[in-house]
This record gives sequence, C-alpha cells and structure tokens, in this order.
Amino acid sequence: VKLDRTYRSPNYNARAAGKDIDCVILHYTNLPDAVTALAMLIDDRADRPVSAHYLIDLDGRILQLVDDEHRAWHAGVSYWQGETDMNSRSIGIELVNRGHQGGYHAFPAAQLEALKHLLGELKTRHAIPAARFLAHSDIAPERKEDPGELFPWQDFAQLGFGLWPETCPEVEKILEMDVIRGLLRRIGYACAATGGYDPALRRVLLAFQRHWAPDTLSGLTDALTASRLQAVAAMMPHWEQPQ
Ligand SMILES: [Zn+2]
Repeated sequence: VKLDRTYRSPNYNARAAGKDIDCVILHYTNLPDAVTALAMLIDDRADRPVSAHYLIDLDGRILQLVDDEHRAWHAGVSYWQGETDMNSRSIGIELVNRGHQGGYHAFPAAQLEALKHLLGELKTRHAIPAARFLAHSDIAPERKEDPGELFPWQDFAQLGFGLWPETCPEVEKILEMDVIRGLLRRIGYACAATGGYDPALRRVLLAFQRHWAPDTLSGLTDALTASRLQAVAAMMPHWEQPQ
C-alpha cells in the first residue's frame, strides 16, 4: 500500500502499558473534503485536539498521520467488550465523507479499494481478529453515527474484516427487553443490563443496525433486528464480561 506521509499529526501519546493493538476503528470525517479534515486532524491548538492514524480521501489516496505504534486520539469516550481506553487498543482510520448532517453519500469504490488494501496490511501486521473491525458508532453509540449504514460491512466481512452472520434464526416472538439488552452486551456494546425501551437503548440499537442491519434503521427491536442480534451474538468470540 502506498502511503502519503507528507502531513504528520502531533496529536498522539503512548499507548497504555500492556495494551496492544488488536482493533481497527472506522470513522468518517464528517467534513466536506480531505483538506478540511486534514487541517483538523493535525491541529494541536484546538480545544480538543484529535487525530487518526490514517485518512483516506475519496480518490483512494491514503495519508498516514500517526505511526501505528502511537496512541492516536480518535475514539473519545468509548467502550467495547469491557475496554474504555479504545485509543490504546486500536488503529483509527478516517474516511472522507460529508456525514449524516452534511450530505452523507456512498463511499466511492476507489476509497473502499484503498481501505481494503490498508486493512489487509494492518490485519497481518498486528494480527487483528476479524471480530475486531468496528465502527466508531459501535464503541460510542450515544455520540457517534460513523461511518454509518452506507459502509459495506458485509463485503468487508467476507474479506475477513468484521463479522457477518451467514444465516439468521427465525424469531417468532418479540424478545423481552432484557434479552435484547443481554445480546447487545454480549456482542460488546455499552448497554445497561436492565430497563425498558429508553433513548439510550434506542441509540445502541441504531448503532447495531448501522453495522449489522442497515436495511432496518428503526432503532426498534423488530423481528429482523432481533434475529440479527442473536446471530451476531452467537458468532462473537468469547470475552470475559464484567459482572
Ligand atoms: Zn468517528
């Protein structure tokens, strides 16, 4: 993969001791173009400086802003499978896209092609398991929607970047809310174990749907969503869930 290292971001620090890279977080820039995104990702005088390891333009050009070994600042307040310091565990990749508020559009083929090549290298270099290719919205469902439902997760899962269930079980009856919560928690989402249908649960369901049920962005526990939830929970490798 050809990397453009012309621009470097000073916005990084050391990964926490004992936390190795085992995860990739995909983002969209939420800005009109690569130039605007780049300016933000290398600005060290911002109130809240941010960065990402890689920025991929619409034409497939890949800029490396932070070396893999460093802890870039892209995840923010986040959680996945018991981990809250996702920046220490992950490589962050920003895809240029205007985002949901600015004219969200499909990711161009050239951009996705470049991403596939980059992910192939990262997966090999850091031995990243298929299950650990995630969306920013997966790890911060309260705040984030990126890269969103137009990202082709199914295609990428077929290449070993992310999970996608082959088949989904028939769901005959509406699942209890606590069962839904249990499935979301087993997959890895930050979600209270008990409670009814509330705004926080709706956000987590939307995040799940953007990744695994993009054809049904209801934020509700419909039959399709319940079925996909069970299928994804069943194929997610075991991890130690805190009590
Ligand atoms: Zn993001």
